[in-house]
Amino acid sequence: MYNYWASIFLPPKAVVEKITTICRSYLWGGIEEYTRVPHISWAHTWQAKKHGGIGIKDYDAWNKITIAKLIWAVATKKDVPWVKWAHGRYIKDKDWWDYTPAPDSSWIWKKNLLHQRSFQSRLFSLICTELSSNVTWDKVVWARSAIPRHAFITWVYVQHGLPTKKRLSRFLPQTDLQCAFCHSAEEDDTHLFSDYPYA
Ligand SMILES: [Zn+2]
Repeated sequence: MYNYWASIFLPPKAVVEKITTICRSYLWGGIEEYTRVPHISWAHTWQAKKHGGIGIKDYDAWNKITIAKLIWAVATKKDVPWVKWAHGRYIKDKDWWDYTPAPDSSWIWKKNLLHQRSFQSRLFSLICTELSSNVTWDKVVWARSAIPRHAFITWVYVQHGLPTKKRLSRFLPQTDLQCAFCHSAEEDDTHLFSDYPYA
């Protein structure tokens, strides 16, 4: 349902934000209302696995990309009926990038055109994202045999996002930083996963 409407026009920002909040809450808390700060930023979380994220859909970005595809189809006069219709009905011989819709155009048509110019700069930033550096650990973390829960914890770990006492002390003063298991060192992710004698 959402996918259908989102591929035709950009829903109000509040709607997109609400959907994103629900997805994010579910990921970190398994519930709809999760108010604590996630260990890894959302902007990073939804990126492709090869770029260090977990490769889920970010509705806001996905929605804009879908609209961008529509705009691109019109700009390149893609050989499909609705694009031909749009050119015949609305654009005629005008230049698409300078085109402004007539007052009697349909609501969806005008709504999408609002994004026609910002699309040019967005296309550039999308290319930049695609070219951003790949991580080296995605194949290890997301190995096919991995148990999802373990893979997820490992994904947080490699980015030093686990809520260890040491890390939490950066945000909240902690009186006790000692490892609860061995009491011989501070509890941070290196100690728990690498140095710890039982690890
Ligand atoms: Zn310990």
